[in-house]
Amino acid sequence: MSVSTVTKEQFKSFVAALVDSDQNVVGVQAKDDKFAFGELTDANALRLDYDVTILPPKKYMLPQREALMNFEVAGAAESVQPDEKMVLLGVHPYDMIAINQMDELFSQGEYDTHYMNRRNNITIIACDVVTDSKNVFAASMNSATCDTGYDILLTAIGDAYVVDAATDKGQALVDMMSGANEATDADLKKREAVHEKNIAALNKHELECKPSFLPKLLEKAYDHPVWEERARLCYSCGSCNQVCPTCYCFDVQDEVNWDLKTGTRCRAWDGCLLTNFATVAGDHNFRKKRADRFRHRLYRKGKYVPGKIDGQIACVGCGRCVTACTAKIANPVEVYNTILETTELR
Ligand code: SF4
Ligand code: SF4
Repeated sequence: MSVSTVTKEQFKSFVAALVDSDQNVVGVQAKDDKFAFGELTDANALRLDYDVTILPPKKYMLPQREALMNFEVAGAAESVQPDEKMVLLGVHPYDMIAINQMDELFSQGEYDTHYMNRRNNITIIACDVVTDSKNVFAASMNSATCDTGYDILLTAIGDAYVVDAATDKGQALVDMMSGANEATDADLKKREAVHEKNIAALNKHELECKPSFLPKLLEKAYDHPVWEERARLCYSCGSCNQVCPTCYCFDVQDEVNWDLKTGTRCRAWDGCLLTNFATVAGDHNFRKKRADRFRHRLYRKGKYVPGKIDGQIACVGCGRCVTACTAKIANPVEVYNTILETTELR
């Protein structure tokens, strides 16, 4: 695999050629005063200098709503398998780390063919952060930079990009970039400087412990007053779940067609802060209290998911929930720091 340098103009020509090809190209674009991933039809619209997107790129592996299978009420069923290929342009390191976690979660135990087929059909061109968002704290969560998962990593160095091909799929794309030259030592030093800057700067909220300490901390926090204090203001709107790159809970429902003979099994995003998330048969809701739901989200991030994937903390510090929460209570760092400051840790 190669590490090359291309000018930004040369890279734009490459994107224009991709857009003109029969590939499905998705990239980050401006949406009013914010940014969003969407289908890219014009290379000039691509914004690799964005701060953060409204929704994370997980929506391309786990869509908000998708058909899982079509069935006949009498019995026969056929799985609906996604097969569309896609180039996904502009994934930030913290979102890449979230995707890496989801890849592990959806491939361990019951292998999720719908998620994994989509994932395997996506070529990811990641990019280092150029502009800090107002609530990012990726540096506190060790996710300001990333070295796995992508096919290509771009790092902006002045008028050029360092283009690091990490897979055969990525190298095949780099081979299409006219003007790509082997990166010089000076280019690589500039890339290192970008990484050092991001490791220091992407830290608008500072966690007062190492993320790896969170599972141990939470062992002592189940009855902490912080859950009740914060949840008192919670609207149970679920926004903190919906914008989160590591939230992956979904609901599955069967929809029967008007003929009453056929139907489709669908899944759609769910959120553990929503009032009825934990409602089961008999209308029993085993997380009826807001405080219980609020605590559950922070335990998922800091203890339960790490227990499934070798201690990796399921908060990558993107800061989206901090921005999305109108009640201003969702910031994981504030909650974890409060517990740290008020808990006997021996
Ligand atoms: S919990 Fe909040 S800051 Fe952490 S990954 Fe999810 S949305 Fe981002
Ligand atoms: S975004 Fe805020 S108010 Fe809405 S469910 Fe999450 S914590 Fe509660």
